[in-house]
Amino acid sequence: MENLVIVGSGPAGYTAAIYAARASLKPILLTGNLPGGLLTQTNTVENFPGFPDGILGFDLMENMSEQAKKFGTDIRFGVVKNAELGLKNDQGGVFHKLTLSDGAVLETRAVIIAAGSRPRELGVPGETELKAHGVSYCATCDGAFWRDVPICVVGGGDSAMEEAIFLTRFASEVHLVHRRDEFRASSVMANRVLENKKIIVHWNSVVNEIRGVAEKKVRGVQLKDTKDGHMSDVVCSAVFMAIGHVPSTEIFEGKLNLEHGYVLLAGESSTATSVEGIFAAGDCVDHVYQQAITAAASGCQAALDVQHWLVAQ
Ligand code: NAP
Repeated sequence: MENLVIVGSGPAGYTAAIYAARASLKPILLTGNLPGGLLTQTNTVENFPGFPDGILGFDLMENMSEQAKKFGTDIRFGVVKNAELGLKNDQGGVFHKLTLSDGAVLETRAVIIAAGSRPRELGVPGETELKAHGVSYCATCDGAFWRDVPICVVGGGDSAMEEAIFLTRFASEVHLVHRRDEFRASSVMANRVLENKKIIVHWNSVVNEIRGVAEKKVRGVQLKDTKDGHMSDVVCSAVFMAIGHVPSTEIFEGKLNLEHGYVLLAGESSTATSVEGIFAAGDCVDHVYQQAITAAASGCQAALDVQHWLVAQ
């Protein structure tokens, strides 16, 4: 029986692992499909304290992984396919059973769910058909494929700003499509976009359709004006979605209290969930702040909560 399995390898998961390993809990950390999480796909992280010149998201996550390993975390590439939570042993103690995609089964006294989130899909015609043929959810991953051609970015938050600016390195021009007349993004990011001559902002506009399904390559988007319904076409070779994220908590549906997919915590000052011995941290809990630093902080809290809970058992 393990003490603690941490599900997820973003800032929340690794921070929980560092604290739990230093407390001699010998945690197992399951990385999920993308070791290091979404930050490995971003460019420079400028707002994580301690790095005045910024640090590549990939390097930041590598550092966290090394630090977790150094204190004895057992890091395993693994994806949880089924979770049986709140089981009772012969002595009445609580334990949980996690089945991984390779069929391995882990039994553990405590779990920290730090499964993070994944990019939200737009849900318009052409999106599914043209994935990997010009529709992308990661500018850092795919941006360099689209040199000297027009590109479209959808969204008005910090991610959309970051992606649009990054893509100006490659694209002939970047069309930024936002459904309102002001950005949600921080003013520093929004101003960088507005000052960039290669970015054309389409305010009050939504993508109605992505063109090019028959040719199996993006050749443009049809936009709809949200104010007057007017339709227009923008020619582009790729569309990058940056419209937020959805929590990766499907396997816990019906087993834990969730709200819109986010794990509900039992109390304001605890990372405990509705099931005894299950704790949660990071973006799969937090739909407000969603920062690397806030995820890391909640991972620390979860590890401390697990320590107290295990001692009380
Ligand atoms: P976000 O802040 O939730 O923004 C999502 C954007 O997509 C919003 O502008 C939203 O429009 C738009 N949107 C959502 N659903 C849509 C739909 N169906 N159709 C069209 N547009 C849609 O998400 P995010 O940009 O990924 O950022 C998430 C968090 O990470 C935020 O806290 C952000 O500050 C942070 N972040 C920080 C940095 C940085 O500091 N360098 C970089 C990236 C992300 P509305 O505005 O109309 O709702």
